[in-house]
Amino acid sequence: MGRVKTAIVVGAGIWGTSLALRLAEAGWRVTLVEQYVPGHVRQASAGETRLLRAAHGSDEWYARMARQARDAWRELGERTGEELYLEAGLMWFARRENGWESASAQVMKNLDIPHEFLDPAEAGRRFPDFKGDDLAFVLYEPEAGLIRARRATQVMARLAVAAGVTLVRARALPYGGPEGDPDGDAGGSGRPAIVVDGEVSRADRVVWACGGWLPRLFDVEVEVTRQDTLHFDVPPAWSTPPLPAFCDYEGSAYGHGDVDGLGMKVTSDVEGEPFDPQEGSRCVLPGSEELARDYLRRRFPSLYGAPVLYSQVCQYTLTRDAEWIIAEVSDGMWLLGGDSGHGFKHAPALAAYVADILDGTREVDPRFGLHHRVPSRGLRTSGGTDPLLGA
Ligand SMILES: Cc1cc2nc3c(=O)[nH]c(=O)nc-3n(C[C@H](O)[C@H](O)[C@H](O)COP(=O)(O)OP(=O)(O)OC[C@H]3O[C@@H](n4cnc5c(N)ncnc54)[C@H](O)[C@@H]3O)c2cc1C
Repeated sequence: MGRVKTAIVVGAGIWGTSLALRLAEAGWRVTLVEQYVPGHVRQASAGETRLLRAAHGSDEWYARMARQARDAWRELGERTGEELYLEAGLMWFARRENGWESASAQVMKNLDIPHEFLDPAEAGRRFPDFKGDDLAFVLYEPEAGLIRARRATQVMARLAVAAGVTLVRARALPYGGPEGDPDGDAGGSGRPAIVVDGEVSRADRVVWACGGWLPRLFDVEVEVTRQDTLHFDVPPAWSTPPLPAFCDYEGSAYGHGDVDGLGMKVTSDVEGEPFDPQEGSRCVLPGSEELARDYLRRRFPSLYGAPVLYSQVCQYTLTRDAEWIIAEVSDGMWLLGGDSGHGFKHAPALAAYVADILDGTREVDPRFGLHHRVPSRGLRTSGGTDPLLGA
């Protein structure tokens, strides 16, 4: 029998926990280092809900991965007996013919992913109140939906520990960084090293899955932005049966009906101000509520005055082209980040992809490298740069 391979994964958000679980199940000895606890409110994975969609404009890679991830979420649900993924369907409010939604539909057709074109009036019948007179059509993904994200992150961590992962609560530092070289043993054994609780640890692979903290630790071209999300108190008709989720790509807005009594989520997807995930205030800004209300007035007018029931402040870690970062910075030392606000859904499938790379059985796609990126928004749900364009 060969030697057991070892990995240290830093960060117990959904990317780190999923990878730790995947590696452990493949026989690796894994240590998962997290400065707080899995599901803590500062991490991007702690949002109550995250959408799962296959539509990614003209990109096939992410559409395919989202599809694989859907299967994985459903399997995880069966395995745990918890409905982590709620397949409520998702509507894309297309403001023009031959735009991003049409490109997405073409890819879905190529990949045999279920989708339908709906007349806006027909789509409107799925909501208790809906105004879609400005829409060219609605693209419906019946097999999209939403994930109970914070819960899923906690469950993933629990499964990882059950699979043998050692979860350590500590803040890790790169070896040899300003505070990260306590014993001056830079030579080491040739395996990548990391400093945890002042001790140098080594493994065959070290993966930094640190979300919005990544640019604090490494020189990466990402921007961390504040994102406020709001949920509005709505009558029961907005939750039973589960309403489809929705995205307005050109209006940079998205949401879903009431789930788990949190209220209806309606939120702008425009990039917010630069944000510090560690110290930044987690109180939503009044302007964010106004933006969401503007959207309600336009699309779901009867909800315009609905009280805010729940709100969260979270952060995007944006690369310029919304492609992720999966990059080896030195032998065996990998960065996994730059999720660009669309990484949650993919986590179990991404973990499988990254595990193969760490194992040496797959080459990483060059698109995920640390090269200078050309700005692009097509992978995000936010095509409009003006808040709630046209509202
Ligand atoms: C408002 C909002 C809406 C979103 N909507 C969607 C959506 O609808 N669909 C979708 O797919 N995605 C969505 N996303 C994106 C998704 O949430 C992220 O892609 C995903 O959660 C990223 O997970 P992560 O594990 O990379 O990062 P995080 O969840 O932030 O986890 C990083 C972890 O690393 C830890 N850490 C950092 N530095 C250290 C250190 N030095 N030592 C130890 N621990 C450390 C942190 O404490 C943290 O727990 C959204 C994001 C936001 C903010």
